[in-house]
Amino acid sequence: MEHKAGFVNIIGNPNVGKSTLMNQLVGEKLSIITSKAQTTRHRIMGIMSGENFQIIYSDTPGIIKPHYKLHEKMLRFIDRALEDADILLYITDVKEKYDKHQDYINKIKKTDIPIILLVNKIDLTREGELESILSQWKKMLPAAHIIPISALKGYYLPEVFDKILELLPENPPYYPKDALTDKPERFFTSEIIREKIFLNFEKEVPYSTEVQIDEFKDTDQILNIRATIYVMRDSQKSILIGKKGEAIKNIGIQAREELEALYEKQVFLDLYVKVYKEWRDKDGFLKSLGYNP
Ligand code: GDP
Ligand code: MG
Repeated sequence: MEHKAGFVNIIGNPNVGKSTLMNQLVGEKLSIITSKAQTTRHRIMGIMSGENFQIIYSDTPGIIKPHYKLHEKMLRFIDRALEDADILLYITDVKEKYDKHQDYINKIKKTDIPIILLVNKIDLTREGELESILSQWKKMLPAAHIIPISALKGYYLPEVFDKILELLPENPPYYPKDALTDKPERFFTSEIIREKIFLNFEKEVPYSTEVQIDEFKDTDQILNIRATIYVMRDSQKSILIGKKGEAIKNIGIQAREELEALYEKQVFLDLYVKVYKEWRDKDGFLKSLGYNP
């Protein structure tokens, strides 16, 4: 039988459910998810293989207006995702305004990549609401295959999978069949720590934070991880550390629990907090963190 393989790239505005969808489709938590916009900063691949197919999903940061260099690099991940896609999964949700999409829709209309338009979060709609939303989208993107879904509840995800398989080109596999992602363990480690920061703090702190893994040492009994959390100002450092170190301790506990489950091993996690002014605009630093699309 023929073998199908290709790149299926997930794009859309912030917070519509891109990362939730990728994790559901791959069956693993590869992308961190929070209720805050711009949680995802990199392009993260999730690979799913079967006997006769290999789907390489990539989750991207949401489409945003760039305010600093980090943003520009996040946007470049999205442009890349447009260039190498065999299929585009364009996601919106039932609450989004249509005009939030116009620029990007014009852009993807020019490509001849097949587009699957997913209208997510249908669990939040009332009876009858959905039909008008779908017909509106049909007008905006007539060439797209439109599927209403709930990534969170898993509604209509088998239909999405079938459609992808149908549209996937014939190719040999690009990655070994047991590969799950292109990212190293260190990357997921820093992402888990970053997620806890997003979940525990409000306002500008999460957006001013980056996590760097300084040591990742695996011994037979224990995994030793040392990480530095970078913030932009002294005030943010105090918030992160908290009274008597309570806040950072909680971050450490939450991250460690998840890391132990992920690596199935006892983890020793050591966290430092450092101030690095304007790190979001420092090219070399961003590069060292893997922002080199
Ligand atoms: P991204 O920014 O596009 O990657 O969006 P996320 O996957 O991080 O999800 C953003 C928020 O929307 C999170 O709070 C998710 O739990 C929530 N969410 C995602 N999919 C659904 C869905 O199908 N229904 C509902 N009600 N919420 C969802
Ligand atoms: Mg995301």
